Amino acid sequence: MFGSVIEKIVDLLFPYRCLKCGKVLDSAGYLCEDCVGEINFIKPPYCRKCGSPLHIEDNDSSKFCKTCSRNKKSFYRLARSAMVYDNSDKNLIIAFKFFDKTENAKLLAAMLKVAGKDIFDAGVDVIIPVPLHYTRLIKRRYNQSVLLADKLSHLTNIPVDRFSLIRHRKTRPQVEFSGRERVTNVKNAFSVKYPDKIRNHRIVLVDDVMTTGSTLKECATALHKAGAKSIDILTVARVID
Ligand SMILES: [Zn+2]
Ligand SMILES: [Zn+2]
Repeated sequence: MFGSVIEKIVDLLFPYRCLKCGKVLDSAGYLCEDCVGEINFIKPPYCRKCGSPLHIEDNDSSKFCKTCSRNKKSFYRLARSAMVYDNSDKNLIIAFKFFDKTENAKLLAAMLKVAGKDIFDAGVDVIIPVPLHYTRLIKRRYNQSVLLADKLSHLTNIPVDRFSLIRHRKTRPQVEFSGRERVTNVKNAFSVKYPDKIRNHRIVLVDDVMTTGSTLKECATALHKAGAKSIDILTVARVID
C-alpha cells in the first residue's frame, strides 16, 4: 500500500518519457506511438537462414534469400535481427550505446526475444555477448551487449556466459572503417578463455547492431575453434544493403 503511494508520487515527479523523442507518455512505457510506428521491424517473410527481409508476395518464411541459396556455408546456423538499422532507428541505438540509458536494454531485450524465436526454438544452451576489450569497458563503464544479454537471459531463462569469450586484442571502433578494413581491424581479436564451457554448447551471440558482420564472424571463429556445437546470431538491428 505504502509502496504504491510512493510509486504514484514518483510517477508524478518523473513521468515516463519516450526513449527516442523524449515526449511524456500517457502511461508507463518506453516509446510513444509515433516512434513505435517509425521503427522498421523485420517481419515475415524473411530468409530462414540469415533473417533478411524477402521481397516476395507470400508470407512464406521457409525460403532462402539469394545470397543464402547460393552460399550454404556460413559462420552461423541462424541469424535474426529485430529491426533494420536506418535513420529512424539510429537514435534509439546510439542513445543506448553511448549514454547511460540502461533502461533501453529492457525494451531492446524484449525485441530480441521476439526476433529470436526461430533460434530459441532450434535450441540454445548459452547466451554470449560480444565482448569489449577491458580498456574500452573502463572508458564506457558498461558493455551494451552484456546488458542486452543479461536482460534476455531474464526473459528466456537461458544462462549468460560473459567470461569465456574475450577480446584479447584492442581494436579501433568498427565505425571508423568500411568494408575490408573492418575485417582486418577485428581479425584474430577474440579468443576463448574457458573452452570447457564452450565445447558442445549451442551458443547465441548477442550484439546491438550487425553491419558487415566481421566482428560477429571473428567471435564465431574463436567459438568454433573451441568446439561450439552451433552458433546463432541475434542483434537488435542490422544494416541491409
Ligand atoms: Zn517518441
Ligand atoms: Zn539469407
